[in-house]
Amino acid sequence: MGPAWRTALLASAEPGGRVRCGLCPFGCVLAEGRTGPCRVRRNRAGTLETATFTAAVAHLDAVERKPFYHLSPGAKVLTVAGPGCTFACGYCVNHRLSQYGREDTAPWIGTPALPGDLAARARADGAMLGLSYSEPSLAPELTLALAEHGLPIVWKSNGFLTPQAIDLVAPVLTAVNIDVKAADSRAHRALTGAPLEPVLESIAGFRAAGVWVEVSTPLIPGVSASPGQLEAMATTLADLSPDLPWHLLRFTPDFKMRRERPTPPEDLASAREIGRKAGLRYVYVERALGAEGRRTLCPGCGSTLVERGIWETAGSRLDAGACPDCGTRVPGRWRVGT
Ligand code: SF4
Repeated sequence: MGPAWRTALLASAEPGGRVRCGLCPFGCVLAEGRTGPCRVRRNRAGTLETATFTAAVAHLDAVERKPFYHLSPGAKVLTVAGPGCTFACGYCVNHRLSQYGREDTAPWIGTPALPGDLAARARADGAMLGLSYSEPSLAPELTLALAEHGLPIVWKSNGFLTPQAIDLVAPVLTAVNIDVKAADSRAHRALTGAPLEPVLESIAGFRAAGVWVEVSTPLIPGVSASPGQLEAMATTLADLSPDLPWHLLRFTPDFKMRRERPTPPEDLASAREIGRKAGLRYVYVERALGAEGRRTLCPGCGSTLVERGIWETAGSRLDAGACPDCGTRVPGRWRVGT
């Protein structure tokens, strides 16, 4: 079964039956019958339509796996995903979903999403709702429909959306984890097919709108893994805020980059030091450095505040978001009700 198209938001009419899409910075003006490079928004008879009101996946997992480390430790997230992405990264571990329309290996999968059913399932599990695995910013319509059911919503996103799209979704989002995949636009464009600047602007835009933001960087060979790229990224992020949690993700060979090797633990340790030296207070490494890489330390006195197992929080000493030893506040949304 193919996509079930429905009317999209952020559309404006152009002369000659064309329609402008205001969702991502590509700003496509689509002629009648044309589909955007994301492959999930199209002009049909002068109406912009989306295919992303779809659930191909609905999976319950820990908030730490998104990853969010400063958001309701121990919370669960019912994560929903449909096909589609604005980027075409050669390393994508979810390429069978994200690269729909670009790759023969990514046929259409999924059925129309039922927001009420998804929310009821999340509520029964005491979970938030999340959009991840593919690109959630392509699904503002589904995000807003899910929000009508009153649960917190989180995204794991590439951050490639317009300020107008941020204005639309920020009021219903609790948190966003945004990937920063390169330090400069040339490298970012070579990897993703898109410029970097809108991603950095989205980090600032979501923060200004009151959404909790964490950042992830996969250490991609030849792109983000070099010390120079990491230093530049860390400096940029620290300039935005030294309190931005930065997750360094081990590269896993997949898709078009199967011949590369996984990131060695010593490179992840070096990357973490680069982040700390740049001034970032919370730099995390998911697995390769053991529990030490996942620990939150007090920036005031250095004591351990949050311990994490491989995928979940193991224990927290935070007292109303502050260090119990010296009283230093640690930024985050430590208790989000479901
Ligand atoms: S979301 Fe798709 S159709 Fe809209 S501007 Fe971006 S690539 Fe073009």
